[in-house]
Amino acid sequence: MSLEKSKLLYEKARTLLPGGVSSPVRAIKPYPFYTASASGSKITDVDGNEYIDYCMAYGPKILGHAHPRIRQAIVEQLDKGWLYGTPTDLEVTLADKIVSLYPDIDMLRFVTTGTEATMSALRAARGFTGKNKFIKIEGGFHGAHEAVLVKAGSGATTHGKPDSLGIPEDFTRNTLQVPYNDIEAMTTSIESNKDDMAAVIIEPVMGNIGPILPEGDYLKDVRKVTEENDVVLIFDEVITGFRLAMGGAQEYFGVTPDMTTLGKIVGGGMPIGVFGGKREIIEMISPSGGVYQAGTFSGSPASVAAGITVLDVLEKENVHRTLNATGDAVRARLSDIVSDMGLGYNVSGIASMFKIFFGDAPSNYNEALKCDKEGYFEFFHRMLKSGVFLPPSQFETNFISTAHSESDLDRTYEAYEANLKGV
Ligand SMILES: *Cc1c(COP(=O)(O)O)cnc(C)c1O
Repeated sequence: MSLEKSKLLYEKARTLLPGGVSSPVRAIKPYPFYTASASGSKITDVDGNEYIDYCMAYGPKILGHAHPRIRQAIVEQLDKGWLYGTPTDLEVTLADKIVSLYPDIDMLRFVTTGTEATMSALRAARGFTGKNKFIKIEGGFHGAHEAVLVKAGSGATTHGKPDSLGIPEDFTRNTLQVPYNDIEAMTTSIESNKDDMAAVIIEPVMGNIGPILPEGDYLKDVRKVTEENDVVLIFDEVITGFRLAMGGAQEYFGVTPDMTTLGKIVGGGMPIGVFGGKREIIEMISPSGGVYQAGTFSGSPASVAAGITVLDVLEKENVHRTLNATGDAVRARLSDIVSDMGLGYNVSGIASMFKIFFGDAPSNYNEALKCDKEGYFEFFHRMLKSGVFLPPSQFETNFISTAHSESDLDRTYEAYEANLKGV
C-alpha cells in the first residue's frame, strides 16, 4: 500500500496550512491520506487506496458519500444559482419540517456551521434571560468559539490542549463546568449561581469523547433542575439530531429542552447549522428582537436543498429503524470479538454510533481520558492498512451509514479481529 502522493502533498501542505490541514483532527501522524473522491461507504485517496469509511466526515454522511438524490438536489439548485442574499422558499420548507419534528422548536434560524449555531444559541439564551453564566459539560464539544473552548472534546482533547491560547480569561469566566452523568454537581452549580445562570448546554449523548450515554434518568433530571430554576436548557444535537431518530435525542429519550442546535446531517453534507427553540426566545433574534445575529451564507440555497432531500429520504425510507438495528448488530459483534479475546476493552454506542474504548466504558470525560489513547492510535493505523478508515482518535465516534453493506461489515469484523491482536 503506497501513500507516496499523500506524503508529498503533506510536505507541501505543511508549509501552507497549519499542520498541513484545514481542521486539527485531520492531522493524522505521521501524515494524513489526502482524499481524491468518495462514494457510498468508500473513500479513495490520491494514491488510489480505497477504505471503508466509518468516519463519514465526522457525522454528516448518514446516507453515505455522494448519495444520488442529494447530488441531484444540489445540481438542480446550482442551475438556478447558489447564493442570492435574499430569502427563499427552500428555507421556509426546511424550517417547517424541522419545527414539525422537534417539539421545543417553534422558530429557528439557519447559520453555516454548528459552531455558529451554539455561539448564537448561547447569545440568545443570555439575551433572553439577561444573565451571563452558563454550564457546559466537561468534555462537551460545541464548536470552536471562545466561550466553549474549556475542557472541550473532539480535536481539543486529542491534542491535549483543552484550553486554547488566544482566549482572554474574561471570555470564559462565565463558563462553568460539571461532569456528565452527575446531576448533583449540576444542581449545586445552578443553585449556587442562580442569580446569574442563563443556560445549560449539553450534548444529550456525548459524541466528542465517546460516545458516552446518559445513565438512568440523567437527562430527565437535567430537564427538571433547569426548569425549576428558570435556566434555558440547550440540547446540542449537532451529532444526535437526525442520527438517533428524526426528532434526535430528544425524541429518543423523550426529554424536551428549551432550545436545540443542529448541524452535520441536516445539510446533507453541505455546510449548515441551525439553532431554534421556544418562540419567546427565538423572537429575541434580530431583526425581530435585540440579540444580533447575521450571516452572508446563512440559509445557503444548495445546503438547504440538500437538507430538505436528506430528511425526505430518512423519513420515507424509514432509515432509523434499519440503521439503528445495524448499529445494535455491530456493537454486539464487536463486543463478542473483544470479550473472546479477553482484552478488557469496551464497546459503547447508540443507534448508528459505536466505538471501542481501550479501557473501561467511561461515564464521563475524566474516565474517558484514562483509556489507552496510544494503543488506540496504533490500532487505527493497523485498520487503515487493512482498508478500514476509523476516526483517528479514541475520542471520535464511528458512524454507520445506509451505504454500509453486509460485506463491508464482514470485512470490518475480520479487520477488527486481526488488528486487535497484540495492540
Ligand atoms: C461538530 C460539532 C459542533 C460544531 O459544528 P461545526 O459545523 O464543525 O462548526 C458543535 N457541536 C457538536 C456536538 C458537534 O459534534
